[in-house]
Amino acid sequence: MNARPILHVVSLSGGKDSTATLLVALELHGRENVRAVFADTGNEHEVTYEYALDYLPGALGITVDVVRADFADEFATKRANLARIAAGEPESAVYGSREFMYAWTPEAAARALELLRPTGVPFLDLCLVRGGFPSRKRQYCTEYLKTRPLTEYALARLEEGHSAAWSWQGVRIDESDSRRDRLQGTGACVRSFEVAGGGLFIYRPILRWRVEDVFDAHAVAGIRPNPLYRQGMSRVGCMPCINAAKVEIREIARRFPQHIERIAKWEELVSFFHLGTQGHTGAGSTIHAVVEWSKTTRGGRQYDLLADAEPATACASAYGLCE
Ligand code: SF4
Repeated sequence: MNARPILHVVSLSGGKDSTATLLVALELHGRENVRAVFADTGNEHEVTYEYALDYLPGALGITVDVVRADFADEFATKRANLARIAAGEPESAVYGSREFMYAWTPEAAARALELLRPTGVPFLDLCLVRGGFPSRKRQYCTEYLKTRPLTEYALARLEEGHSAAWSWQGVRIDESDSRRDRLQGTGACVRSFEVAGGGLFIYRPILRWRVEDVFDAHAVAGIRPNPLYRQGMSRVGCMPCINAAKVEIREIARRFPQHIERIAKWEELVSFFHLGTQGHTGAGSTIHAVVEWSKTTRGGRQYDLLADAEPATACASAYGLCE
């Protein structure tokens, strides 16, 4: 049997960079050889869902596939461990000598068991199984919510018989000062083409484009950018993204307070899950505290809710999956 031709898989976030990347892929390889894939975090703005899953498919004559991270295995493991503690086994027998921030009592474990179930919202499920929210310095959300499901999608296409799959990623060095600082001259992250292995290749065609080029590509193709850019947003992704700038948090709170309230409810659920464990004080930053801070003139420039001492991973957003 002849191998099917190379498939070009574009990771589409609904942001300007991934949309420009999709336009280049379609121009060069045609609809029949391109698949657009949207990794749904369950934490996007409704405008982004409409743009990526309705407007772009209609305007470009394509379908957009959707992938969602699934944490069923992690929930099952965590529930099994909690059940053992609730039944009276010491935590050390369940987890060995690993050290945790909070110590489970049997009562807290029994109560957590009642709460700990998949919600079907990937971002919230990730927070529940990890016992907290990601932060700018612990940016595992990109890996779990986007990189892994998108890679699995590309590998599944290879199993369908394509000779190779190119994963197109809309990362740009100039997308932000911090990305420029992290990517310039750091080696692997700045390459526009990489061999991932097993027939999978990584391609970053707009790595050195300027933002003007990105909007020009939209205009030339007759495609309007995500409307959120006209509503005070400089980036499109989770609402809000842990990397959102201070001014952006302020804008989100002013224009889209329902998204702040949604995060506040999720925080309650995730922290409620830990109440009753020894060592949990219930204190800590909340989205409402961050919003208040965003209205002040003090402090840094970015949303950094749960920053800790771990160093930022230089490549965490090098895939351009989280604009
Ligand atoms: S958009 Fe931001 S919060 Fe969402 S997965 Fe990406 S880095 Fe994490």
